[in-house]
Amino acid sequence: MTVDALAGAAYIVAALLFILSLAGLSRHESARSGVIYGISGMTIALVATVALTVADAWTTGALLGLGLLVAAVVIGAAIGLWRARSVEMTGMPELIALLHSFVGLAAVLVGWNGYLAHPEIAAELVGIHNAEVFIGIFIGGVTFTGSIVAYLKLSAKISSKPLMLPGKNALNIGALVAFVVLTVWFVNDQQLGLLIGVTVLAFALGWHLVASIGGGDMPVVVSMLNSYSGWAAAAAGFLLNNDLLIVTGALVGSSGAYLSYVMCKAMNRSFLSVIAGGFGIAAPTATDAEYGEHHEITAESAAEMLTAARTVVITPGYGMAVAQAQYPVADLVRRLRERGVDVRFGIHPVAGRLPGHMNVLLAEAKVPYDIVLSMDEINDDLASTSVVLVIGANDTVNPAAAEDPSSPIAGMPVLKVWEAENVIVFKRSMAAGYAGVQNPLFFRDNASMLFGDAKQKVEDIIAAL
Ligand code: NDP
Repeated sequence: MTVDALAGAAYIVAALLFILSLAGLSRHESARSGVIYGISGMTIALVATVALTVADAWTTGALLGLGLLVAAVVIGAAIGLWRARSVEMTGMPELIALLHSFVGLAAVLVGWNGYLAHPEIAAELVGIHNAEVFIGIFIGGVTFTGSIVAYLKLSAKISSKPLMLPGKNALNIGALVAFVVLTVWFVNDQQLGLLIGVTVLAFALGWHLVASIGGGDMPVVVSMLNSYSGWAAAAAGFLLNNDLLIVTGALVGSSGAYLSYVMCKAMNRSFLSVIAGGFGIAAPTATDAEYGEHHEITAESAAEMLTAARTVVITPGYGMAVAQAQYPVADLVRRLRERGVDVRFGIHPVAGRLPGHMNVLLAEAKVPYDIVLSMDEINDDLASTSVVLVIGANDTVNPAAAEDPSSPIAGMPVLKVWEAENVIVFKRSMAAGYAGVQNPLFFRDNASMLFGDAKQKVEDIIAAL
């Protein structure tokens, strides 16, 4: 059997393992096996690709490809290992955004190579090849700059506020129309200038699409860029004539698109408006509303309130991840439950900075899974709860989303913590959350602020108990 045939068979096995991996990752119980399927598929795919290159070098004597492959694998593996070891859990979303940008850039480079290398192609397929080059560069370019903006926003290197250029919808639609016109032109006449034009156009569109999306919609953007990176990989697969890349790209592209759709539904957002760069979303009117005074509470008083409580709900957010407060929180929960207090968690679908962020942290701290409920499961019970502890959450418990139609996060479903008898908010200051919107909850009569690092404050409460 030839190496080509063996590699083809290995690619089919790898593709099946990727499908099993996706199926496994969709449920907590099977997530671990999903990861193992994914690693196995990727290992098989890598070995098969290396074997193909070695066989090619063997028969043609061209060692350059082999040398480049070894260099790429060594450099890529070294950077990957270093980043995977050093990344903090809170830095994961921006790392993922950065990785998506690499996929986009790779697709752009593969597209340019497809043009410059003049591969031998049957006359009737030349038009298709040229279209593949052009479309691959466009999708890759949008993914590249879009992911870089997402990285900059998620790492707070630029503001998460939406960019509101005049006529932004017309700009986006104009760019798409220009892309279609340029593609038809390029298929008929392969001028270098057209390729440069589409590259610049794609870079500008990617930048603008993501820059136009506000903080509250970033979770959807991250999964949407994940989807784009899949389509970019599939486009590169067509150009490189690599079936596995096509299949894998399509899997990532379609599962990312589905995740974006599910998240849009959970966030009460229009899927089309988010993928079109906030299409149709009007600029939020700045509200300098006077909210009044906020009340502060000490850890000792909080401990007293908790001991007297019948039911407690904890709604964690990004601040719990920053403070790494999940371990003392788990300890506090154990102690309260020992005293007969009914304690549960309410998890908002976009709490933290990546889907499932809070569930991972709580699982890490060994919080029993049956007391960790989703927003929809707990929201109706909040009105009859004695004390809600809002630990480092902000946007996900903001009543403005439910009550103020002019708020940039209006319509986003939130945990209705303000309906509880008492709310204690753990944070370090009166600063706004990720979406940059002030939170009227902090000024409600039944809410008290417990200022300081969340981990320290939870430990103080445990000491006072
Ligand atoms: P937010 O990001 O709205 O707020 C976090 C709060 O934590 C801040 O107000 C901050 O206040 C506080 N905080 C930070 N560090 C500490 C600390 N060490 N101790 C105590 N408090 C701290 O959190 P949410 O989880 O409620 O909301 C998530 C936001 O992120 C949403 O807007 C969502 O759309 C967005 N997002 C979510 C993604 C996802 O997939 N989950 C992806 C991208 C964005 P202070 O500085 O005063 O301490």
